[in-house]
Amino acid sequence: MRSEIRSIPATVQPSDALISPFAFDNSYARDLVGMYAPVSPSPVPAPRLIKVNRALAADLGVDAGALESAEGVEILAGNRVPAGASPIAQAYAGHQFGGFSPQLGDGRALLLGEVIDRHGARRDIAFKGSGRTPFSRGGDGKSALGPVIREYILGEAMHALGIPTTRALAAVATGEHVRRETALPGGVLTRVAASHLRVGTFEFFAARDDRTQLQRLADYAIARHYPELASRADRYLALLQAVAERQAALIAQWMGVGFIHGVMNTDNMSISGETIDYGPCAFMEAYDPAAVFSSIDERGRYAYANQPGIARWNLARFAEALLPLIDADGKRAVALATAVIDDFPARYSAHFMRVMRDKLALDHAQPGEAVDALCNEFLSLLQQHGVDFTLGFRYLADAAAHNDERWLTLFDEPSDAQAWLQRWRAPVSLMAPEQLAQSLRRTNPVYIARNHLVEAAIAAAVADNDLQPFERLLDVLARPFDERSDAADYALPAPADYTAGYLTFCGT
Ligand code: AMP
Ligand code: MG
Repeated sequence: MRSEIRSIPATVQPSDALISPFAFDNSYARDLVGMYAPVSPSPVPAPRLIKVNRALAADLGVDAGALESAEGVEILAGNRVPAGASPIAQAYAGHQFGGFSPQLGDGRALLLGEVIDRHGARRDIAFKGSGRTPFSRGGDGKSALGPVIREYILGEAMHALGIPTTRALAAVATGEHVRRETALPGGVLTRVAASHLRVGTFEFFAARDDRTQLQRLADYAIARHYPELASRADRYLALLQAVAERQAALIAQWMGVGFIHGVMNTDNMSISGETIDYGPCAFMEAYDPAAVFSSIDERGRYAYANQPGIARWNLARFAEALLPLIDADGKRAVALATAVIDDFPARYSAHFMRVMRDKLALDHAQPGEAVDALCNEFLSLLQQHGVDFTLGFRYLADAAAHNDERWLTLFDEPSDAQAWLQRWRAPVSLMAPEQLAQSLRRTNPVYIARNHLVEAAIAAAVADNDLQPFERLLDVLARPFDERSDAADYALPAPADYTAGYLTFCGT
């Protein structure tokens, strides 16, 4: 396997475009020879632009108009390789639902290149659904348009919520059909990420006992994401700690908005701490710790409340991969790494309780057991009464301003809610009611990417070529904390039987 990757020459693919919308600077292709296979995107018959993300383009210093031009759309569909790109399929392995696959890799994705954004940060420009690569195995390397639109919406929703995430720069329809259970219109997503380094990237080289490549990879990851660690003697242990810290913060943020990733395999956990690979993900409606929507997650491994535990499990796999770098003495390496993994639950809890205190405007209250108990009681209350997770927090703002009604109607029986409200009033009484309400509205979104809205936007776009519901949903989700009188429907949950029967699928 090792020789297979190494034997592939690391030449840059020829480009047939003289100009490029992107000012590429491709460190992965340059510095990590042997960790990828050069590939070309597969041409498609009839590219049609679905959308360019103008705000993101501006952030990247990319001319959105150039992307929207006929030549730009050819580039976004994979029909032309822009000047300066060095398209590659990255090698990675991964634990999927607990079982190890030593070779996964970019089977339907490729890294076009990297750009430096307006803030000086290096960001990957990658395609998803751009055709076969040496890692495609039996797959066609393609993506259906539905999952492309889904990833676009979910990524933007998470970004607007302030949660680190990859984002869609563009979506195009390809004009060809991909064969799944039925024939579906195809699409290509252009994805922007801090990087596509995953836990699984490290597992790939660790599984091959390739210490040299492992170390190069770790040094690259440190230089790119954690440069402050580069000069430390214990930098590989510090890398593990830093990734654990970012994951603890990230998962706490997911939990705070009711996000269920759905397929937290180690190849879908990023080293940079961004949410990555939106497949069968979903936002929870009624609060239920056991909530799971993915059709392939039959045993609920990736259920809502399991996510912190799975993050720890994945980090343990990351730790195992790093062991040879952490200390030459194997026993000592294990002891050092184990301490980091054992510390993860406390690290996570600290983040989660901070998120909860923020959500309940308790961040100024005297921290301690009483405040933590109020948070936990609130969650129990939502669970017991099957209250919509998002609105349960959001409408508390009304109650804060002494207008209890909208909040209380979320509960089938209001007395428990009223009792909790009384207990909560004491620690938040330092703030004037309107100030308190405003604070709650700043931390609790009114709009999330509700499943029925996402599905309706996809269905209209794919079946009827109608992009209006997609555009409108994106517009509402771009400002999730601002309640709008013209978007009242977007705040409301789907009927409970819709949610009970709702299943998500991997975007393959
Ligand atoms: P995912 O579940 O999307 O994270 O994908 C897991 C692995 O399957 C990755 O190695 C993907 O590249 C590969 N894969 C998924 N879909 C396809 C496809 N249609 N063709 C080829 N490879 C695929
Ligand atoms: Mg993946």
